[in-house]
Amino acid sequence: MSFLRLTDLSLAGKRVFIRADLNVPQDGAGNITEDTRIRASLPGIEHALEAGAAVMVTSHLGRPAEGKLQPGDSLAPIAKRLSEMLGRPVPLVQNWVDGGFEVAPGEVVMLENCRVNKGEKKNDEALARKMAALCDVYVNDAFGTAHRAEATTHGMARFAPVACAGPLMAGELDALGRALRNPARPLVAIVAGAKVSTKLTILKSLAAKVDQLIVGGGIANTFMLAAGLPIGKSLAEPELVGEARAVLEIMKTRGAQIPLPVDVITANDLSVLARANRIAVAEVKPDDKILDIGPQTAAMLAALIAKAGTIVWNGPVGVFEFDQFSAGTRTVAQAIAGSKAFSIAGGGDTLAAIAKFGIADKISYISTGGGAFLEFLEGKKLPAVEILEQRAGKRD
Ligand code: ADP
Ligand code: MG
Repeated sequence: MSFLRLTDLSLAGKRVFIRADLNVPQDGAGNITEDTRIRASLPGIEHALEAGAAVMVTSHLGRPAEGKLQPGDSLAPIAKRLSEMLGRPVPLVQNWVDGGFEVAPGEVVMLENCRVNKGEKKNDEALARKMAALCDVYVNDAFGTAHRAEATTHGMARFAPVACAGPLMAGELDALGRALRNPARPLVAIVAGAKVSTKLTILKSLAAKVDQLIVGGGIANTFMLAAGLPIGKSLAEPELVGEARAVLEIMKTRGAQIPLPVDVITANDLSVLARANRIAVAEVKPDDKILDIGPQTAAMLAALIAKAGTIVWNGPVGVFEFDQFSAGTRTVAQAIAGSKAFSIAGGGDTLAAIAKFGIADKISYISTGGGAFLEFLEGKKLPAVEILEQRAGKRD
């Protein structure tokens, strides 16, 4: 993938516009409850400041109605937190689309919630042109919104004098490209979680690329159904059994396989107090719910993971939120953590599992972009990335 990188450009005296992803969770009173995204955006902002640029930063926050700023939609708390982190003032500018505000080289301002601007979501050309005119260099450092073509993620990149990727965006693309474009083999993907329907495209796209596809959770249940195994009252999507067979078929024609569980952890209901039973797959009764893989299956998967050159992980293999159904996901997580392979992981619940098992520092790269990460795995071109490549004048 070829795109310009912020860190390769000379920025002294230039007006640099950074589209960041500062969409952090807030409580009812507007306090920031988790500031990972702000911290992750610091390297790009600090780099531009140190290089002597006049820096403008914006982001979306929540889902505001276009055209009117409601108090809860304001980036004010984010500007305050950023100011604390940078140790310098970060004034917040409202109604900024037509300019009329000052920012000197070596200074930074925050431009109010970009999704409040009319035409942002529709990628309106007139809006994009106006915003692009504010800068000499447009920087997209918001991987989390790279799957959406909006005025600040796509249109501006078309019209700004220079369009480049910030360090967070570049880091994500480097890591994902390394895992999927030219991976060290064997490439092992773990696609698990609740439903086949939400991950069908990923399963199909990865089935054509990986050496080993591991399915888990409700997804594995649907694959077990496709293989004629009993699953009782487990979460599954019987209407997608045909699709599951198609994925098995893609793998088979490539001489690859999808290992199915040999033992499972079941219960009659899904609750904190539910009694967990470990049984062989053939013993699953009509009233049972499969809520985790059994230890024998977990050990088998861990052995496959241990042999990998590259690992892509999305989705827990059991209801890891409850301790009695968390052992399978823990074993898989620890196998990934213990592997020498290049590993990437992403997905909301996957990140929660990584945090629960304390292995974050043992994964090579943890993607910050939920939807964008999944679309990348689906093999889709991300519009915000595609335009940066076009602007760089090189395509791969
Ligand atoms: P991610 O957010 O990482 O992409 P998903 O949202 O697809 O992952 O799936 C995560 C959810 O799947 C978790 O809440 C987990 O409890 C649930 N899950 C995993 N295995 C099972 C199972 N066997 N039965 C029911 N739910 C499951
Ligand atoms: Mg989820």
